[in-house]
Amino acid sequence: MQDVLKNLNAAQREAVTTTEGLIRVVAGAGSGKTRALAHRFAYLVNEAGILPGNILCVTFTNKSAGEMRQRIRQLTGDSDAGYICTFHSFCVSVLQEDSHAVQYPKRFLVLDNSDIDTMLQTVYEERNLTLRHMTFSRARDMIEIRKLFQEPDYYQDMLAMPLEGLREKYLSAAAVEDIIFYGYLYQEKKCFGLDYNDLIKFTLYLFEQDAGIRLKWQRRLEYIMIDEFQDIDELQYKLMCVLCGYHRNLFIVGDPDQTIYTWRGANVKYLLDFDKAFPNCKTIMMMQNYRSSPQILRAANSLISKNVHRIKKELLSTLPDSGPVFFHHAESAEQEAEWIAAKIAELEQQGVPYQDITILYRAHYVTRTLEEVFRRRKLPYVIYSGAQFFDRKEIKDALSYLRMTAYRDDLSFQRIVNTPKRNLGEKRMRFLKLYAEQNGCSLYEALHRCLEDELFRNTKARPFIQLIEETAARYAGKPVSEVLGMLLNRSGYEEMLRTEGNQDRLDNLAELKQSIYEYEAACGEECTLEDYLSHVALFSNSDTSERRNAVKMMTVHTAKGLEFPYVFLCSLCEGVFPSVKTKTLPAMEEERRLAFVAMTRAEGGLFLSDNAGRNIDGSSRIPSRFVFDIDRLLLQYTAELPESLVAEASDHIRFHQRQLSALAAGPSFSAGQRISHPIFGDGAILAIDREASTYTVQFDDIPTPRSISFRVRITPL
Ligand code: ATP
Ligand code: MG
Repeated sequence: MQDVLKNLNAAQREAVTTTEGLIRVVAGAGSGKTRALAHRFAYLVNEAGILPGNILCVTFTNKSAGEMRQRIRQLTGDSDAGYICTFHSFCVSVLQEDSHAVQYPKRFLVLDNSDIDTMLQTVYEERNLTLRHMTFSRARDMIEIRKLFQEPDYYQDMLAMPLEGLREKYLSAAAVEDIIFYGYLYQEKKCFGLDYNDLIKFTLYLFEQDAGIRLKWQRRLEYIMIDEFQDIDELQYKLMCVLCGYHRNLFIVGDPDQTIYTWRGANVKYLLDFDKAFPNCKTIMMMQNYRSSPQILRAANSLISKNVHRIKKELLSTLPDSGPVFFHHAESAEQEAEWIAAKIAELEQQGVPYQDITILYRAHYVTRTLEEVFRRRKLPYVIYSGAQFFDRKEIKDALSYLRMTAYRDDLSFQRIVNTPKRNLGEKRMRFLKLYAEQNGCSLYEALHRCLEDELFRNTKARPFIQLIEETAARYAGKPVSEVLGMLLNRSGYEEMLRTEGNQDRLDNLAELKQSIYEYEAACGEECTLEDYLSHVALFSNSDTSERRNAVKMMTVHTAKGLEFPYVFLCSLCEGVFPSVKTKTLPAMEEERRLAFVAMTRAEGGLFLSDNAGRNIDGSSRIPSRFVFDIDRLLLQYTAELPESLVAEASDHIRFHQRQLSALAAGPSFSAGQRISHPIFGDGAILAIDREASTYTVQFDDIPTPRSISFRVRITPL
């Protein structure tokens, strides 16, 4: 047990020792907010004698939850760490304990993107839809938006309607969006699945319905602490308000300059207006930065100061000088990657381990060139976002075997019944689907009942059923790692990979087993298969590769809250970062905050770069406005930029900024007004969409209404 007040400054100490009531910490990047939070947890446990199980500590990602847990364990010397988790995984805990109160079984499945895709696949097949109607990723977005904003009461259908009723609603839907939406709800209910949005909705509904259960949780959570509060969204905020309703001990920390999730509904107003919502709250500020060198901090401050809508605050470094912040302009994406690789090799020569180096980027696709160059140069690297560990095929398959044992659900069944090959191809699957539909049973049950059927004579259906039944019977209560080992072995799955010579995939399975051991060690004896399965569905890309000495690559969003000795921020090109999708002034400010988050991850070394390659739309690239936002004296350019390029860039940026401002000015016309358009002729404005900055116009000579951007010059008639 360490002295938890040591190594804290006065503001942090105040934050840690003010245990009662409502406290808000507003402070900049690297100022020790997360450290204060961890120490506060330890203080409550060590000094105040609070049980960890009575503290809820909310982090933004599972990865940061893992790190927080470790930090707290070191501080308290106790292995029990209470609820240190994301809002989503906290909801899993609540629902696992109490979902029966809203008639949803405790053995619900937590769905991730690839589960959702499997369900969409079924819906598309049943209703003859193709990806031309809507891609899966658009369908997922559509479902999310509909659940969040358009049909916030959708879950009533999932809970109250009998399965048949929901199916009818789905089958009678005519519009493509409705078919997909209700088809998905039906699929969800059929296997008792819940996606991320449902988790919070269901939990809120549960608390609303059952005052007893609500009070139980409110009483249990004597202290609530929330990190990264600037990115909380409305549902999470509501949940927080419910949870703290009894003890009213709430501690939140955030930095308005690091709001980077407004595109997903986050709203910084909850942080800024916290004192209005909770008038007796106390606000603590922290001004020193303990993470980054003065050079890095000055460059980051210079960038963020260009945002118009912000509360001014300047961070002061407490660290000694480091070298300058570099900026390198490369002629192509490949040359940029080569420059980064060469710099990394230099650092390594100087004794910097690869794992101290991280490459950050705005969008996943940037890694392709980096990977090619790194592979050629034999530089070890790990990608933390993109093909996420738990999204990989072999990992999903292995988890599906586990899920089969616990739930025998259709999703897992479809994934693995014919992997490895058991001669259960499409024809037989069609038969099973029909049988299951007609008899109201699961696919697994259908196969079980039809084992004697001629159709399954020449298949390995029987050993498959035996495997699942025996595992379920014999291994109930055994460690998950053991169950998995035996499933992979007896199913022939590992053998299949060995025959294919697929060492990478075998290595990944080994990593998975390792992560399960660690999970079991962390949660002690009570870890059941069901617990593990609900939590694993929430794991994002994994901490599992952490042990390797390799350069890390990740998106800036993933890097939130983390810190690294050396950071390369690459592809700082207009159209990449800021992204081409940036269509409004507020969105541009969010992009700038994102760049600020990226820069403030660096401790001692920061390298910025761009390249003159091609954008996805074929246009040639120019350096990002964010490079020019940083005071020229605060960056060391590896070579001066050609004057013509600087001129081109500043023209482009000015023009683009004017466009954004025009959009921000809002509509010049009102609904109902008649207008004239330079190409489409005369028409009437039907509606105005401020969010998308468009008018919907019915033109006299065009049968269907059109969306027209505010930007286009139309004139009143
Ligand atoms: P972010 O906004 O990026 O999440 P943060 O405010 O949460 O940053 P921390 O991650 O808590 O900042 O701290 C940044 C770094 O500074 C960490 O390495 C932390 O250990 C160190 N640090 C924090 N407080 C102190 C202190 N009082 N003395 C020395 N080092 C500190
Ligand atoms: Mg933090």
